[in-house]
Amino acid sequence: MAVDSLLSSPLGPPACENDAKALRFIEEMTRNADLVQEKVLAEILSRNAATEYLQRFKLNGATDRETYKSRVPVVKYEDLQPEIQRIANGDRSAILSAHPISEFLTSSGTSAGERKLMPTIKEELDRRQKLYSLLMPVMNLYVPGLDKGKGLYFLFVKSETKTPGGLLARPVLTSYYKSEHFKTRPYDPYNVYTSPNEAILCADSFQSMYTQMLCGLYEREQVLRLGAVFASGLIRAIRFLQLNWPQLAHDIRTGSLNPKVSDPSVRESMTRIVKPDPELADFVTNQCSTDKWEGIITKIWPNTKYLDVIVTGAMAQYIPTLEYYSGGLPMACTMYASSECYFGLNLNPMCKPSEVSYTIMPNMAYFEFLPHEPNSAGLTRDSPPRLVDLVDVELGKEYELVITTYAGLCRYRVGDILRVTGFHNSAPQFHFVRRKNVLLSIDSDKTDESELQKAVENASQLLRGFNTSVVEYTSYADTKTIPGHYVIYWELLVKDSANSPSDEVLEQCCLAMEESLNSVYRQGRVADNSIGPLEIRVVKSGTFEELMDYAITRGASINQYKVPRCVSFTPITELLDSRVVSAHFSPSLPHWTPERRR
Ligand code: AMP
Repeated sequence: MAVDSLLSSPLGPPACENDAKALRFIEEMTRNADLVQEKVLAEILSRNAATEYLQRFKLNGATDRETYKSRVPVVKYEDLQPEIQRIANGDRSAILSAHPISEFLTSSGTSAGERKLMPTIKEELDRRQKLYSLLMPVMNLYVPGLDKGKGLYFLFVKSETKTPGGLLARPVLTSYYKSEHFKTRPYDPYNVYTSPNEAILCADSFQSMYTQMLCGLYEREQVLRLGAVFASGLIRAIRFLQLNWPQLAHDIRTGSLNPKVSDPSVRESMTRIVKPDPELADFVTNQCSTDKWEGIITKIWPNTKYLDVIVTGAMAQYIPTLEYYSGGLPMACTMYASSECYFGLNLNPMCKPSEVSYTIMPNMAYFEFLPHEPNSAGLTRDSPPRLVDLVDVELGKEYELVITTYAGLCRYRVGDILRVTGFHNSAPQFHFVRRKNVLLSIDSDKTDESELQKAVENASQLLRGFNTSVVEYTSYADTKTIPGHYVIYWELLVKDSANSPSDEVLEQCCLAMEESLNSVYRQGRVADNSIGPLEIRVVKSGTFEELMDYAITRGASINQYKVPRCVSFTPITELLDSRVVSAHFSPSLPHWTPERRR
């Protein structure tokens, strides 16, 4: 209910005074998007004018867009790697940013098999928090009464390392949850979580998940929204409940805490919550001990109004599974962000997942857009890039996002392809189309074509002794299993059938592929348990020719036909599956440690 019609915002009547302020901010930013962008760039360029990087391009104090665009090149991560490496090695001079680099954020994007290191500065935390503070005021416009209960959010920190120069390197969410911004956030009735900070901040993923789930069960009737950052995380939580409900019910019945939860601060925080409740224990047992898990979320948490979870981009593959477990609850995708920069928010969060559009907030960074032509190779010397400004993008067109941040990334290609779907005031709204060059993704892993190719090559070395080679391959992200896993279809040429590779050899090939994949994949396998063992399905010889015939009947050109290195279209996966002669799984975990290889 609106507190006062005077507070009304064009977005709708705010739920409280605080919300009115946030909505006014959104209006102000989106109405003056171009002016804000001009100011943001001028601010970044004037404060970083003396940095080694900007000095190189002789801006001579200019802070206008035209000079900037004509002198400073558009870059990718690899172009900045020498500078980033120097910072990581301890060079504290103003290389990219005049403000000291406070830490590195480890992106789930990789370069040469390792996570990218994104430099950040302290004040970026304020900018991130500002964007977070806009989410609930928008949500309150669509879902009333969220101050009458709690949010059950499965939030986790991950391991962190130090660079040779002593700077922390960790994921952006780990940095945020460990910050005072999060830990000592003031009480806000619209943002009360069932999970205590201690449970969220526990680095052991089992203890953290176990205690967050236990709190969610104790407070099941207060839970009004349920979420995780990405869909894969929420599905992992449901799977965790499937595997661990007997112990959870035991703890609830007896008022004791599973001894596997050994972290003293987590145990201490749980003493305020854990108490014997046999009735609740019976309820949990009744719900979980059947095979019918359809709609389990609404059974256990009957007052849930929506799931708060990102199901756009690579996460769209999880929509059917979440619909199954939640009995069709709405899924709200509230924000669009990355380690490099937080970009924007969804002003209509209760819309259907396929209709989600994000409004980029012009105060977060300076944004440019590289027109994306799906069949072009990208930037070439003959065709210099013509990037457009935030307010100049055209409805219906696709662009690659390019950012200039306060932390010192200048005209940096994020690698995301966005399509303009509309405008809020003068700020464009974007549908997230896809990330460039990502073939396979289960959780936060992103495997590209060359990584897959290298992995197949490495694994196929093991077949040499058997006079066998991989003649064709393709892949598929199988998310029907929990956790999901990579499936690689192999067509083999066995030259000596009396000496063909055994099952054991093919299992070793699965492991060899996993060892070759990037560190985010291996972390998902080893530490997060968010990716299942890789599977090789050997198909009958001639299968890939059939695949080509099928593509040609659907209009592909015979001359230009290329084997797709990833398939998801059901008739194709069905064709492949009907030709499988044997299936093999990775027999053990690949190697992974938090330390970087380089
Ligand atoms: P990271 O650098 O690991 O934080 O990953 C950031 C990337 O995750 C972005 O560049 C996007 O590709 C993807 N991403 C983040 N938010 C969303 C979203 N709301 N929808 C789709 N993809 C997203």
